[in-house]
Amino acid sequence: MFIGHFGLAFAVRRAVPQVSLGTAFLAAQFLDLLWPTLLFVGGETVRIEPGATEVTPLVFESYPISHSLLMAVAWGLLVGGVYAWRHRHLVGSVAVGLLVPSHWLLDALVHVPDLPLAPGSGTLVGLGLWNSRAATLMAEVPMFVIGVWLYLRSTRALDAIGRYGLLGLVVLLALAHAANLSGPPPPSAAAIAWVGQAQWLFVLWAYWIDRHRETTLPWSRQATPA
Ligand SMILES: [Zn+2]
Repeated sequence: MFIGHFGLAFAVRRAVPQVSLGTAFLAAQFLDLLWPTLLFVGGETVRIEPGATEVTPLVFESYPISHSLLMAVAWGLLVGGVYAWRHRHLVGSVAVGLLVPSHWLLDALVHVPDLPLAPGSGTLVGLGLWNSRAATLMAEVPMFVIGVWLYLRSTRALDAIGRYGLLGLVVLLALAHAANLSGPPPPSAAAIAWVGQAQWLFVLWAYWIDRHRETTLPWSRQATPA
């Protein structure tokens, strides 16, 4: 799953306005932000096999540190804990902490059974929506559209960066998703890891534009997202 995670992050920014869109992106994509580094250092492995599923040629051979349920919960506790320590905001910390393992649950919808319950566990989970391009799109695109819509409804641009920066971010996420779905298979695992690292740019971009938008929800006018 790709843009579905971002859709949820956009929606959480509305539900808990204290959480910056950048922080929501970081939490919702934390497992996928960790994974490229683990590919580089050799801890986790991926194989390219065109036709493996209708949607992706990637075969996730082993990724227990980034993508097991147990570790997803542990990473959630860590990220939520850091947020609590820095911002002393209970609801924000819980939202951020839950967003991290939400990634695992959403991945479990689309992945074929390759998601371990815990490091070393032989039980692999995945409902396999990736076997159908149409089913994948039907699951992810509405999540993204609704999330962006909720974000638009609850914030207002303060300037051109807030307006066009957001537009650019949404368009780029949609294009990246389209490229994932219909582009040629990546040339190597190293290439996958490099492209994966580029996702940090989305996080930085989200922090940037979120500072150029203000929350318009009446119950949180004073809240400064962080
Ligand atoms: Zn993932």
